[in-house]
Amino acid sequence: TEQKLLKAETLNVVGELAAGVAHEIRNPLTSLKGFVQLIQNQTDDFNQYLSIILSEVDRIEHIIKEFLVLSKSNSQNFEMACVADIIRDTVDLLNTQAIMKNIEIKTEIADQLPLVFCDPMQLKQVFINFVKNAIEASSVGGCVEVKINLCEKKECVKIQIRDYGCGMDEIVLKKIGKPFFTTKDEGTGLGLMVSTNIIKHHNGKLDVKSKKGKGTDFIISIPVK
Ligand code: ADP
Ligand code: MG
Repeated sequence: TEQKLLKAETLNVVGELAAGVAHEIRNPLTSLKGFVQLIQNQTDDFNQYLSIILSEVDRIEHIIKEFLVLSKSNSQNFEMACVADIIRDTVDLLNTQAIMKNIEIKTEIADQLPLVFCDPMQLKQVFINFVKNAIEASSVGGCVEVKINLCEKKECVKIQIRDYGCGMDEIVLKKIGKPFFTTKDEGTGLGLMVSTNIIKHHNGKLDVKSKKGKGTDFIISIPVK
């Protein structure tokens, strides 16, 4: 059932329909790219424009690939991975949603972070849930900060997601992470529960600081080994 809930939230994030559409978009994209390359080989005119078209098509392909990976079910797949890369993917994925609210996602990634033994897909799921919540909590024009650091004793990587949005009072703070607890009209109340479980599977830790009306600070610690 945990697997099912994981999948439910994944599908909630990406949308079952979106995954289907994403798949359908792939073929025409490939054809589009092929013909642009063909034109490029035939003429030197408009070369600059054609290059721009190609790089934009590449970008669409990248986003679609992300969509499809996320909509697949989550199986446990631990490996040594770079948390910074996972964060960059997450921010890429959620930037559109942020831009729609005129929110800037600021990332700060420390140099020379060690690789972490983790399930990258599951960690991505966690980061998506937290960053998405941060965007949803922020008002238009706000800002979300994502920072990755090595902790002082160097035995864990710390990922901090901070927003200056609505914040939470004591009552809400006590209930977050409980299945189906949500204060949103269209919420599932599954994101934090799923995330908490994934963090547990990684022997990690979750800390939260929040002030009603001021904002929220979530800190996820994942041991390096
Ligand atoms: P959902 O987002 O579907 O409501 P979550 O499990 O992700 O479910 O979050 C549960 C609840 O926790 C939210 O409805 C909200 O009340 C609260 N919450 C989570 N993150 C934040 C945040 N960054 N700022 C304010 N409230 C939050
Ligand atoms: Mg959520």
